[in-house]
Amino acid sequence: MRVDLHCHSNASDGELAPADLLALLRADGVQLAAITDHDTFDGWASVAPETPLMEGFRLLPGIEFSSCYQNRECHVVGLGFDPACPGIQAAVASQGLRRHERARQLAARLEWLGIPGALDGALAHAAGAAPGRPHFARFLVESGRVRDPDEAFDRYLGEGKPAACPVIWPDLQDVAGWIRAAGGLAVLAHPLAYSFARTRTKLRALIGTFRECGGAAVEVAMAGAAPDRVAQVATLVSEARLRASAGSDFHALAQHWRRPCRVPALPAGLEPVWSEWV
Ligand code: MN
Ligand code: MN
Ligand code: MN
Repeated sequence: MRVDLHCHSNASDGELAPADLLALLRADGVQLAAITDHDTFDGWASVAPETPLMEGFRLLPGIEFSSCYQNRECHVVGLGFDPACPGIQAAVASQGLRRHERARQLAARLEWLGIPGALDGALAHAAGAAPGRPHFARFLVESGRVRDPDEAFDRYLGEGKPAACPVIWPDLQDVAGWIRAAGGLAVLAHPLAYSFARTRTKLRALIGTFRECGGAAVEVAMAGAAPDRVAQVATLVSEARLRASAGSDFHALAQHWRRPCRVPALPAGLEPVWSEWV
């Protein structure tokens, strides 16, 4: 079964409108999907009513929350929760406020570095979605400060760079709790993407803490990940007796290696998190 339980629409920092993302998922042969925008499920909500009649395709409620683990930013995907739950709606609202506050701080730092107008620029790129660092990166490209978004992160926005702000997100435990309280499953997103968990020991500690926080699964089948490192994650997930998820983390068509069709199969011996829904 082809599955993609992590992708972004333009309700956060993705390129495609939710309906176009849905069309891409289906064209790529995905049968079970979740649109997991950063700190919002508006993208999911705008297309969810159309999906029940789509033969051979199911769309779960999804979200990607930002959280804080040992003072660093850590992402948690929520799947299959009840979007009508007041607790998760309050959580989304509070994350939106944090996002706007962080955008304000980031723009102030850029201004101090001699780059004015970043807040308006980023908000224009966000086009009504909550502003994130990729929107600032697009502003920096557009205003000729950097050549591409990667350079924007390398020079200004990335961890430890001059415009980076302190982590403002709630604890991993709180975020996993929001998802569980709304009847969903919490999934540790892209475990290989964290600079603070590069070693096997640190990755094991992160996965262990995530399980203690009520996490249900870890992303294992990830588009574009090195097979030897995926095998390492698979071993740690299996040792922790957590389930495994699969996702592309698709944002834009130019990143062809992150398309939904590039999600590899789950390594043997792991329990898929999606057995709940198929
Ligand atoms: Mn993103
Ligand atoms: Mn993420
Ligand atoms: Mn993501």
